[in-house]
Amino acid sequence: MLREALRDGSFAVTCEFVPGRGKGGPAVDAAAQFARDLGAAGVTVHAVSITDNPGGNPAISPDVLAAEIRQVGGEPLVHFSCRDRNRNAIESRAMALARMGIQNLLVITGDYPSNGCYEGTSAGVFDLDAVQAVKYLKEMNAGIKVPGKKPGTTASLPATDFLLGVGVSPFKLTEEELMLQFFKLEKKVRAGADFIIPQLGYDMRKFLEIKRYLASRDLNVPVVGNVYVLSYGAAKVMQGGGVPGCVVTDELVAKLKAESAEPDKGKGKRLERAAQMVAMFKGMGFGGVHIGGFGLKSDDFVYIIRHGLELEPQWESFIPEVSFSRPNEFYAFPAPVTYRPTRQEKDPVATLSPGCTSVFFSVWNLLHGLLFDRKALGYRILVAWYRFLEKHKLLGSITHTFEFAVKSVFLGCRDCGDCALPDTAYRCPMYRCAKQQRNGPCGGSRDGMCEVYPTEKPCAWIAIYQRLKGAGRIEELRQAYVPPCRAELRYTSGWANFFLNRDHAAVPAETPAASGAGESAANAGPEPKANIH
Ligand code: SF4
Repeated sequence: MLREALRDGSFAVTCEFVPGRGKGGPAVDAAAQFARDLGAAGVTVHAVSITDNPGGNPAISPDVLAAEIRQVGGEPLVHFSCRDRNRNAIESRAMALARMGIQNLLVITGDYPSNGCYEGTSAGVFDLDAVQAVKYLKEMNAGIKVPGKKPGTTASLPATDFLLGVGVSPFKLTEEELMLQFFKLEKKVRAGADFIIPQLGYDMRKFLEIKRYLASRDLNVPVVGNVYVLSYGAAKVMQGGGVPGCVVTDELVAKLKAESAEPDKGKGKRLERAAQMVAMFKGMGFGGVHIGGFGLKSDDFVYIIRHGLELEPQWESFIPEVSFSRPNEFYAFPAPVTYRPTRQEKDPVATLSPGCTSVFFSVWNLLHGLLFDRKALGYRILVAWYRFLEKHKLLGSITHTFEFAVKSVFLGCRDCGDCALPDTAYRCPMYRCAKQQRNGPCGGSRDGMCEVYPTEKPCAWIAIYQRLKGAGRIEELRQAYVPPCRAELRYTSGWANFFLNRDHAAVPAETPAASGAGESAANAGPEPKANIH
């Protein structure tokens, strides 16, 4: 149902449930109960959306609840977070979901683990970022290639049929954060995302900018508007940065405070605002709406959907009611002349200021050009040197220690052995980014600071953006796909792995001819550093 609604442009409706911890209880049972109630309600909900360990806290698996939703005739949309699973677990879960007939996934990075779960806080995994995960799942849809029975061959697994949604957080204060969100969104789309659900927010101009950015890049992917029914209590938590990536302005909090003094504690106004947002998203040409909110009952969802569709003829008059921005908020596009759908937009990158040159970045770039550029004499000498070291292990070990000392002192190296420094403007994602993101920031940064260390560390990607922009290389941020770290190289020399063609940047080896029915020739070398265009 969701796939058809998005494909046909018939305005998809998804309703989000956040199951709690434990095997049962009202929060856990609410999603299946809602799916049951829908039959009598007479409204169309194309998918019931279930979060995946929301806020980095443990909760019952959405996969189990999704199966229950299917049993009562509903269609689930399962959140698929990269936080808690490595590649093995991601593929294992994906195949289990496919076997259960669950096809709608919302692929996200995931909030960092935040609370003590059991004898402390759990570790985040973040083996893949959302771009890499979408690419992986898309390859499963095509029948992913795995090693075949005969050495040097591959075989294809049975194809899955996932519909892949992704997130984006446009409610960012600064140019760096907002443009990076759009660049990463573009990578997700080019990796195979089928639809987009933005972070919750209350600035329709920012929602519109997602569609304007997609139009400016000639990307035609449906965006499902986020309608979150915001209570005064939740707003205060978000105002204080308590929910990663969620922005609620002082002005909106003051409005909700006044509404909460009304006899119904502001519920009527909250539901009305949500219905108005449904009407606006429909009028603005969004692919649908994703409705959520703490403690919403089935009747509340039904009211928002019905009333929102009734209000559609007046949608433009509601825009000033949901236009909460902060002082100095950066917008990628000029103020819109209209909020109606248009496909003619200029690439906002063309209007950005040139940026400042980073001396640090220039020096590392110069060294890189002399020693790591495959056409440089230094590169050829170092290839010979590292081949020599392969046969002289003690000397190789000493060289590795020297490399680690230099890179850890100047660049914060964590000795992962599959160095991403040239991809990330010499800001090590293993050290600088709590979620080890290689293709752009997560959605959790706030006013330029990291989600995980909001008062201590700026988001690692701010400096990456500034360095590349200052060097006139901003395009790399949205063009280059950076593969995940090869775990088999951990604690080995990144330089050796580069010069000996073992890391993610390796040049592919010659491909032998295809062989064997149902199997194709394997690429004898590791996957090259790819561009996803
Ligand atoms: S450094 Fe940036 S991308 Fe990494 S976890 Fe922090 S906010 Fe997210």
